[in-house]
Amino acid sequence: MIRAAASLCLAIAPNLAPGCPAPLPLEVAPEQIAELTRWIERHSDYAASALGPPPIFLCQTGEVIAYEGHDVVVDSELRAAYDLRNDRIFLVLPWSASDPRNLSSLLHELIHRAQFAARDWPCAAATEPEAYRLQEQWLAERGIEAGFNWFRIEIEARCLSDHHP
Ligand SMILES: [Zn+2]
Repeated sequence: MIRAAASLCLAIAPNLAPGCPAPLPLEVAPEQIAELTRWIERHSDYAASALGPPPIFLCQTGEVIAYEGHDVVVDSELRAAYDLRNDRIFLVLPWSASDPRNLSSLLHELIHRAQFAARDWPCAAATEPEAYRLQEQWLAERGIEAGFNWFRIEIEARCLSDHHP
């Protein structure tokens, strides 16, 4: 099965609250977060651990999650998202910390958090190539092929969807 990366830069969606209607606070083991954060620091220049552990919420449906303009990144197959404005990570059911692919989605959002904390970006999607590259590397270290759609990721990273009034 091809796992396409549906990275959407929803820059034209005005004032939409997160469409995760009843997010549940999710406890991910602190040592698991710390391990992912350390991995990010070993493989990038981001001081990820300085940010502390983020609030994490679980969305009960896999429906399309709508966000506020530039503030949120929607990720592969809508498995996860980072809410920049409120500094929250959303994960979508089914999600299990024992599933490496699920964990890699959390890693991806932790990378976004570190990216946005470090500097400004021309559009949300501009953060994706690096986030997907690191996620792919993390999966590869565990013998899992990510199968991301790099063509689409690179196209969207050009921020073309930002060209609107
Ligand atoms: Zn992303």
